[in-house]
Amino acid sequence: MRQRAVRDQQRLDSGVGISARDLANLQSEVVSLAKRQGDLEDVVLEVMERLEAATERVTELTERVSALEAKVADATERRDTATAEIDAEAAKVTKDREVIVTSMPADLMALYEKIRVKQGGVGAARLYQRRCEGCRLELDMAEVNEIKAAPRDQVVRHENCGRILVRTADSGI
Ligand SMILES: [Zn+2]
Repeated sequence: MRQRAVRDQQRLDSGVGISARDLANLQSEVVSLAKRQGDLEDVVLEVMERLEAATERVTELTERVSALEAKVADATERRDTATAEIDAEAAKVTKDREVIVTSMPADLMALYEKIRVKQGGVGAARLYQRRCEGCRLELDMAEVNEIKAAPRDQVVRHENCGRILVRTADSGI
């Protein structure tokens, strides 16, 4: 298009063998070509501006993706560490429990298991300051006196929840 405009202009400038009508036509073509060139330049400019904005957005989104990927990697690592710790602790507790179970009288273990299943996984609870730590209820005076009178090696249970009460120095009795 630009070449055509130059060619037309050259013909106009030389003015050789051109009729007045041709001259008018050429001049009008030059004007219209110049206008089209201006329009196309506007379009190119607009496309370039849009490309620049899109490139900026791509950069911004790429940065956000990288930041999120780093967060996911960090969280995954922490989860894996925690899982390994929990697994190790569970293995240790299971082993400790096995040792304790073998040293306990069979009938006491059977009673404990029965209560444990019935009471959502907790078959025995510490008696702390006259309160059962299994159901959180405070023992009444009659119960306290009954436990006080019971020999140290007797298995005592909480009337309210049925759990085996473990007496310690902090039991308050
Ligand atoms: Zn209780």
